[in-house]
Parts: sequence; C-alpha cells; structure tokens
Amino acid sequence: MNQNTETIFSKIIRKEIPANIVYEDDLCLAFTDVNPQAPVHILLIPKKPIVNIDTAQQEDQALLGHLLLTVRKVAAQAGLKNGYRIVMNTGNDGGQSVYHLHIHILGGRSLSWPPG
Ligand code: AMP
Repeated sequence: MNQNTETIFSKIIRKEIPANIVYEDDLCLAFTDVNPQAPVHILLIPKKPIVNIDTAQQEDQALLGHLLLTVRKVAAQAGLKNGYRIVMNTGNDGGQSVYHLHIHILGGRSLSWPPG
C-alpha cells in the first residue's frame, strides 16, 4: 500500500499529465475518471495532498466542507438532476487505490446498493 502523498493526482494538479478537467478553483479540482463506473464518473480532489479522510486533520475542516459543497456544483454542471452518489474509498479495505483524498461523483444511471 503506497501512502506517499505524491500520487498521479499530484501530476494532474500540476498539469503534468492530461486529464479531462471539469471544474477547478483555488482549493480543488474535478476531472473525469479514466475508468468510469457510470455514465457520469467524476473525481473531486483537494489540491492539498491529504491521503484520505482518515488522515485529515482538524485544520482541514474548512477545506473538507468546501469539497462537499463543491460536489453540488460539479453534479449540477454534469446534469445530474435525478441524484447521484458520492463515495470516498478509504484505506485498504475501503478499496482506495490512489492515496490522495478524492470524492467519486457517480451518476447518470440508477445505482444499486450495497456496493461489493
Ligand atoms: P480509488 O480506487 O477510490 O482510490 O479511486 C481512484 C480512481 O482514480 C479510480 O476510479 C481510477 O480509475 C481513477 N484514476 C486513476 N488514474 C487516473 C487518471 N490518470 N485520470 C483519471 N482517473 C484516474
């Protein structure tokens, strides 16, 4: 398990590798997932390299709130009028593969529950 804070998402933030960026502000970036699991599958990440919600600090409170409120903007912009799901895979058992905190925004079809 690689918990180094330098990940492929750091390169996307620095625009060193291409990504389909759909939203950006001073604090965060959203881009389409390269391996989409739904018609709309966007990743929203903080520019600060926080590993995951489990390692976030008290000082990140405002940033995390900003991310959650930004979800709405990104979802609206993507046309997700019928709802959507947000997911934060966290750690090994959570299925996290990139150790830079990210919110999956999934929509455009009816999503089943529970996840696998
Ligand atoms: P997770 O498994 O929750 O850590 O999610 C990581 C996500 O990042 C996966 O859904 C991958 O498909 C996605 N991903 C990995 N590399 C890239 C990339 N270069 N551009 C866009 N999405 C990526």
